[in-house]
Amino acid sequence: MASTGLSSSLRPQVVVVGGGMAGVAAVQRLVQKGLTRVKILEARNRAGGRIWTQYLGSDTLEFGANWIHGTIGNPIYELAKQHGLLREEGRPEDLDRANVRELENEKFLMPGGKVIDEDVVDSCLQDYNEVIEECEAVFKEGRPSNPGDSAGDFLSREFRKQLASSNDIDAVKCTKMALLQHYLKMETCITGCHDMREESLEYFGQYRELEGDHYNNPSGYNAILDLILKTIPPDCIAYNKKVQCIRWREGKKRSESAHTVEVECEDGEVFSADHVIVTVPLGFLKKNCRTLFQPPLPEEKLASIERMGFGVVNKIFLTFEQPFWDTACEALHLVWDQDHSNSKAPEEWYKKMYVFYIDSKAPNTLLGWISGKEAEYMETLSEEEISNTFVSVLKKFMGREDIPKPVRTMITRWGSDALTCGSYSFIRVGEKGDDINTVAEPLYRDNTEVPLVQFAGEATHSEFFSTVHGAYLTGQREADRLVNLYASKQ
Ligand SMILES: Cc1cc2nc3c(=O)[nH]c(=O)nc-3n(C[C@H](O)[C@H](O)[C@H](O)COP(=O)(O)OP(=O)(O)OC[C@H]3O[C@@H](n4cnc5c(N)ncnc54)[C@H](O)[C@@H]3O)c2cc1C
Repeated sequence: MASTGLSSSLRPQVVVVGGGMAGVAAVQRLVQKGLTRVKILEARNRAGGRIWTQYLGSDTLEFGANWIHGTIGNPIYELAKQHGLLREEGRPEDLDRANVRELENEKFLMPGGKVIDEDVVDSCLQDYNEVIEECEAVFKEGRPSNPGDSAGDFLSREFRKQLASSNDIDAVKCTKMALLQHYLKMETCITGCHDMREESLEYFGQYRELEGDHYNNPSGYNAILDLILKTIPPDCIAYNKKVQCIRWREGKKRSESAHTVEVECEDGEVFSADHVIVTVPLGFLKKNCRTLFQPPLPEEKLASIERMGFGVVNKIFLTFEQPFWDTACEALHLVWDQDHSNSKAPEEWYKKMYVFYIDSKAPNTLLGWISGKEAEYMETLSEEEISNTFVSVLKKFMGREDIPKPVRTMITRWGSDALTCGSYSFIRVGEKGDDINTVAEPLYRDNTEVPLVQFAGEATHSEFFSTVHGAYLTGQREADRLVNLYASKQ
């Protein structure tokens, strides 16, 4: 065993609830720093949480995280690069808004098989990117806005203004308005909300985009997770351990050295700990925060949890015998006519699906993204119904009747997944600037600076929320809080 440098009374028992990226990063750091009495309690039978790669035959499908967002200062990129995961056939996948317009291999289709002219797409994206920058500047430059203002209203208003003052002919203006609705749908998938009118204007720019390309790791995201898991002793993780109650402040007095927090699992087993790091998703917290903690969380924290945004984004995987599309093409964008762009009725849910990506990790598969209420509605449908629906949609947009039936249709169901209750967090209209920090603040032992319950996970990172690197950094943050605490006690 590695020397801890700590006397046994200074070797705390740490329980980590949840074995996603935040949980495993926390434990890796604790173990590396000599705090080896750690246990992850993970409700599923696998680690990774919202990192979930499915290896099916020669196909690699990402049910959760897809991209490593940015390279400069991204610890996940560094890790993957160090271990050569990005080298082979690794090719930057450009999702960056500023770079989307440089992509040559994406087609923007309209119903009837019309392909939108590249120049129109390019100039429209340029306009859109300008209004996105303006939107971000509200936070970055502290420009005035009201708490009720939404990014969606701002983007639509400013884009329309630009369009009105342009020299475009009416037909082009019409196409650009349809493209605007399309980009707004894309934006909901990036941010994780149902409608950009839910997204706060005031804090839209708080998310910090890291510089550099967006990588689609050819080995699958799980390969990155495995690099971390390999550094953790296997007996530090217990699977199928759903935590149902964290008792963090008993009425009775306990001696200093006794464990002070009890973590009870659904199967009745109870773990005692000096410190608990909770990494469950915000969606799970929203649903269960009033019963998960005993005594209940402070009102201020509960209010922040309630105010924060956590939305549903799902994926659709349609696998065909062989591609019927131009194999040089990397994305088929489905641009509905303006009046069809935002579906109102549940039966028009599929109009929210704005793109099919084609990924070299599964070259016969079209990968669709869908957000919000429509994504939730899709979860209630059978794969057969979803498959039939998208075959009709493809016929409409490709202007062809000979679209074959997929040989395999799979979708994600993050909304009804009881352990996430959604996909990722966003800053909602009405949210307060410090809500993320309020949720991230530990619960301390009375009148001390000793944290009893700590919070990590993507939603607790004030700049990198909704990402894997954000989750990773919060795990390390909470581990370091303990490492520093015990270092100061020595
Ligand atoms: C569809 C989709 C696409 C995404 N795309 C990207 C992307 O391209 N790039 C990117 O950087 N990020 C992406 N993300 C976000 C990224 O996956 C997450 O931000 C990150 O993985 C979250 O890690 P986490 O540790 O905070 O939470 P999680 O991974 O959710 O881990 C929390 C863990 O807690 C467990 N748990 C929950 N309740 C309990 C309980 N009561 N007891 C015990 N265990 C419990 C869960 O099972 C889970 O394993 C995507 C997410 C989704 C859903």
